Amino acid sequence: MMQKMSRRSFLSASVFTSIGIFIERLSGGERKAAAATDISIRIPETEIPVAAEADVVVVGGGPAGFGAAMRAARSGVKTMLIERFGGPGGAATSGYMCTTGVGDTFPLHSEWVKGISDEGWLFDAWKAYPQLEDNVLVHQSGRMNFYPDDGAYVMIRMLEKANVKLLFRSLFVDTVIRRNSSGDDSIEAVVVENASGRQAIKGKIFIDATGRADVVARAGAPFKSAGNEKGLPVPFSLMYKISGVDYDKLFEYQKSDPALWTAIARARAAGDIPEGLYMPYQYTMGGGWGGYCGCPQLNMCALRGKGEMLVWSFIPYHWGLNPAENGFDASRGEIEMRKFNIAEVKFLKKYVPGFEDAYLSGMAPYMALREGRHPVGEYLLTRDDILNESKFPDAVFKKTLGDPLNTSPEFQPRTNEKGELMRVKITDENKPRSYTCEIPFRAFLPKKINNLLLAGECLSCTHDWFYGYRLIPWSMRTGELVGRAASMAVKQGITAKDIKWTFGYFDDSLNLGKN
Ligand SMILES: Cc1cc2nc3c(=O)[nH]c(=O)nc-3n(C[C@H](O)[C@H](O)[C@H](O)COP(=O)(O)OP(=O)(O)OC[C@H]3O[C@@H](n4cnc5c(N)ncnc54)[C@H](O)[C@@H]3O)c2cc1C
Repeated sequence: MMQKMSRRSFLSASVFTSIGIFIERLSGGERKAAAATDISIRIPETEIPVAAEADVVVVGGGPAGFGAAMRAARSGVKTMLIERFGGPGGAATSGYMCTTGVGDTFPLHSEWVKGISDEGWLFDAWKAYPQLEDNVLVHQSGRMNFYPDDGAYVMIRMLEKANVKLLFRSLFVDTVIRRNSSGDDSIEAVVVENASGRQAIKGKIFIDATGRADVVARAGAPFKSAGNEKGLPVPFSLMYKISGVDYDKLFEYQKSDPALWTAIARARAAGDIPEGLYMPYQYTMGGGWGGYCGCPQLNMCALRGKGEMLVWSFIPYHWGLNPAENGFDASRGEIEMRKFNIAEVKFLKKYVPGFEDAYLSGMAPYMALREGRHPVGEYLLTRDDILNESKFPDAVFKKTLGDPLNTSPEFQPRTNEKGELMRVKITDENKPRSYTCEIPFRAFLPKKINNLLLAGECLSCTHDWFYGYRLIPWSMRTGELVGRAASMAVKQGITAKDIKWTFGYFDDSLNLGKN
């Protein structure tokens, strides 16, 4: 079903999709983030085909987009999922997180995990290597791992069964906006770029599940840039796999050099460790996220293959790159991370027993971001909402969160610069206080656009609030919420903003009025 956009739509497309005009609309700071020069060019007006129409159009196929598309389709509305990569799963699969995620679980999430498990693809590293449980090199305890393609395959199977129309290898690039005389604007279509060229996809309700609020930004809705008050976002990672590791030999070597600090010192003295790799923790924020992001030593997790591990490396926090909004930062980040990863593999092979026959067996297709833009929605969640345990009349979720500025002992630096172990186990005595936090439906509604919903990492919240929440199961769950809300809006012929959430906490069996 290929139709040209109507004259009216075409006119609005030409006004709001012209790159020249888009740049002119940017504020000073945004212009700097988007362009390296002050010069702009105007591209000619162009007419693009409408390639498809759906009731609900989900942009971004990560855990959140997967949840949104599944729930909308299962609620009986025509649903389309647009994803720039060749498969779903986002950071969890294409970003090589290789994990089902940590924290709470929910029915759809459990269904996906069961699908992976039923195939025999779920791997419990601790069972395979009990020595890893208290190993200082291990990224995180209690992870259940899978191969990225396996996790994505199970998602595809579920999406197809639910009748979601999939449009992969399609980059969302813009929105076609309809100005409404009364109040907020609406998105008439999203514009994608793929093998067919530039195409429009029309919809009734749209969902931004891009993990970095691309739709919000292109639609001209307000957002806060990633990062703390100094503009420094949580560091990001280009994950990689290394194979051919002799774990027994490594564990034996760790008896004398548990955090590899001696090996690192030798390699550093020989000029084999580039600046920024194994950076000391003082470069990190010092608060909640800081202890976690930054690695003074190898940061790994075992994978299913014999002698195989997944490795995290982090872009130096103090570089202050903002790849969600700045193309040059994104490019530099990828280049530097590739160099770090190769340097690390070379270091391990040369200096650490157990890695002699190891080899790089795969780098993630992209550098996954821990933090992107934060849309400013009808309600913006802040750290105060955590500390005050704010209650909301339109609460959709109840979630336990810690104070983002009070680091959990689990995430404290694991060694000091002398290589001494500092890892602290969480006990009843040192457990940081947790808070019961509500999330209002309004945090899923961006300002300015009336038929757009936010999912996963695109929730309306500040940098501070974001950290404790931004995990795979919760991203998927919020996707489910907005997928369900979108289907309800379609069935009732209303926009997302018209939904007055009075149904209490979101639950799969919840009766949302007559829909
Ligand atoms: C390095 C790292 C480690 C992590 N470790 C863990 C962990 O151990 N456990 C855990 O639970 N969570 C972890 N997380 C967090 C978890 O991965 C995220 O919370 C989760 O993936 C967020 O889901 P999402 O769908 O909101 O975003 P994403 O996973 O980022 O998905 C967004 C999707 O949108 C697509 N997209 C973006 N822009 C466009 C566009 N313009 N056009 C088309 N498609 C687009 C992307 O390709 C992607 O598929 C980690 C994250 C990172 C980066």
